[in-house]
Amino acid sequence: MAGQICLLKSVFTAIPLFYLSVFKAPATVHDRISSLQRKFLWAWGKETKTISWVSWKNVCRPQEEGGLGIKEIRSFNTALLAKWKWRIMSDEGGKWKDILLSKYGTETGRGKVRQRYQSWWWKDLAKVCGEGVEEEWFHKAILWKVGDGGLVRFWEDTWLQNNSLKVLYPRLYSLSLDQGKKVEEVGGWEDGRWRWRLNWRRDRHEWESNLEGNMLSSLNTGVICQDSHDHLVWRKDPAGIFSVKSAYSILANHQDIGEMEGVFSTLWQAKAPPKVLLTAWRVLHDRIPTRVNLYRRGVPVISPLCPFCSLSEESSQHLFLDCAFAQQVWSRCYRWLEFWGSITTILGTIC
Ligand SMILES: [Zn+2]
Repeated sequence: MAGQICLLKSVFTAIPLFYLSVFKAPATVHDRISSLQRKFLWAWGKETKTISWVSWKNVCRPQEEGGLGIKEIRSFNTALLAKWKWRIMSDEGGKWKDILLSKYGTETGRGKVRQRYQSWWWKDLAKVCGEGVEEEWFHKAILWKVGDGGLVRFWEDTWLQNNSLKVLYPRLYSLSLDQGKKVEEVGGWEDGRWRWRLNWRRDRHEWESNLEGNMLSSLNTGVICQDSHDHLVWRKDPAGIFSVKSAYSILANHQDIGEMEGVFSTLWQAKAPPKVLLTAWRVLHDRIPTRVNLYRRGVPVISPLCPFCSLSEESSQHLFLDCAFAQQVWSRCYRWLEFWGSITTILGTIC
């Protein structure tokens, strides 16, 4: 199985990498690739039907979070495509970027595709970056640092807090005549100081004026600087730079593993052959073919009792820790390694 994992990471993920870096694969292709990966991991070289012992979701977790670090292909595809989006919106670029922007307009990086006959590649890019849906994961992951205010949209872009002003002050946004305008268009320099000049559809009620006051006081913390340009920051990275790895970690959205945190990191650092580490990984997940586990999965077993002592059900806990036979094995191992103490004590020192 260790060999399969190695091949899955180096070959199965690498073969479609070029395609997935440029195009959004259809859901059927994602499903097919995942299915092939699953079969390769659990059933390679076996004629009969086999059990997928650990759910694919858990297999795709990072190793330190209890998985095997295999990429979940759909999220990986999205993270790879998001790199194009980042490069279009940030200062990174080249001739290809100039061509795209001249074709689709400078607003296209934000999803404002105004061309009627846009390419399907462009549509896919907008789709995978969450545009048009409530969960705009990409836009939640970026923050604009305002310089001269020439690129950042005052209401719609996130440049001060964790959300855009449009989201934070929906009432004021609905009254504003500055929708879609850049920061530099919603104010000006007076005697060396930046002053906001907001335009409204009508006079505000008192509570709306108070709201405006609140918003303007929060805006004063933003620094408008004539000498620098607006630039993008990737929130997940200390240096503010996008990486496929961090985008993938956002998309994969792995859940907290609670008290098991740290156990898996220790496991994979152990100096043991890969197949031993894999068995230990399966034991920690209680996903080895003990009689109890086989019975639960509908495999006919003669008896659920432990074949060594016949005193208790053969569970992972019993087989490796509680069984008298297992304890004798551990005891001999301790003597050989010159360890003194119980298995619980020793496990306590490594976990
Ligand atoms: Zn036993």
